[in-house]
Amino acid sequence: MGMNENGSKPGGNGKGETGLKVLVTGAAGFIGSHLCERLLDRGHHVWGLDNFDPFYSPRIKRANIRAAAEDPRMHFVEGDLRDQVLLGGLLADVRFDTVVHLAARPGVRPSIEDPGLCFDVNVMGTLSLLEAMRRYQVPALVYGSSSSVYGKSRQVPFEESEAADRPVSQYAASKRAAELLCHTYHDLYGMSVYCLRFFTVFGPRQRPDLAIHKFARLMSDGQPLPLYGDGTSARDYTYVDDTVEGIERAMLRLERDRKKGPVYEIINLGRSEPTTLDELVSTLSDAMGMQPRIERMPDQPGDVPLTCASTRKSKELLDFAPDLDLSTGLRRFVEWYRETREEEASAAASGTGSAAG
Ligand code: NAD
Repeated sequence: MGMNENGSKPGGNGKGETGLKVLVTGAAGFIGSHLCERLLDRGHHVWGLDNFDPFYSPRIKRANIRAAAEDPRMHFVEGDLRDQVLLGGLLADVRFDTVVHLAARPGVRPSIEDPGLCFDVNVMGTLSLLEAMRRYQVPALVYGSSSSVYGKSRQVPFEESEAADRPVSQYAASKRAAELLCHTYHDLYGMSVYCLRFFTVFGPRQRPDLAIHKFARLMSDGQPLPLYGDGTSARDYTYVDDTVEGIERAMLRLERDRKKGPVYEIINLGRSEPTTLDELVSTLSDAMGMQPRIERMPDQPGDVPLTCASTRKSKELLDFAPDLDLSTGLRRFVEWYRETREEEASAAASGTGSAAG
């Protein structure tokens, strides 16, 4: 399973050590790799679990986690969330304070193509984690949920108190089902859980299947951008550093509050500033200094017309709401994107192959 040697024994949440012992699932992914770096910077001890799922190139994921993995307080475990033996061994070895669960098969369209796989990883994988946490008495979980659970909600901005019981894709249904499972483990076993609903996250290392990354690639290659719908669909884009800040704050608040008794909350992590698809393309084109060619396509099944977070609860509970604006975030994304492409090109030219994928 590729775990390194530093797992401490039960009870070993070393007195005198600072920082929490945190397990991050999906550690090599887009959000997970940023989170690991942030938690290490803040003095926590981080175990990362990831199976380098082939949803997109494992080479990219290995490059994502490389910097964090060099830190002596980072312990990387290559393996599958659904492997109870592996999870049991890990949770028996290390007395974690908290788990941040980000591992998933993401994406609306892939979930429509392969709903079984989506549910297997997102729901059965979450159940496998919750069961292992119950058995080894890990007290707290931060679950990475999604704005997609709101479906085609007309109540704007989206409030966490909505029933969110009308998902319009298997992906959305799987994320909502996992939130419900989290509640069950909270109620039955006193686990403390925050479900954070992320709103379209972007920034360096963004998944290659997501619109911003895909559009940047197509524009650089002189290809037309397929725009689904009439350009008015809108997303509440959130910069990855803000999302990660929200996750860290949630983790710390949960750690504090759970000592008074088990808690369960759902919290949006978005900016409450939706941007239309047409505006997104124009802001991204400006950041890239390029003129896009547009190809209009029909609406995609499973897509929602709008996402827009209410930030009331995140301000109240986390004293924070994401706020980095889209154009600043896109400039940072483009800088990263160009550096990565240059590295790839020079690796290809020198025949060394690319780590950045
Ligand atoms: P990502 O695909 O980059 O990261 C997910 C990671 O999980 C990958 O590295 C993958 O290899 C790993 N993984 C998948 N199946 C696994 C398994 N069975 N065992 C162990 N590891 C496994 O995705 P991301 O964009 O970083 O998303 C992270 C989380 O946030 C996901 O749960 C996703 O549903 C949620 N989310 C993301 C966004 C977004 O805009 N990126 C929005 C809402 C919610």
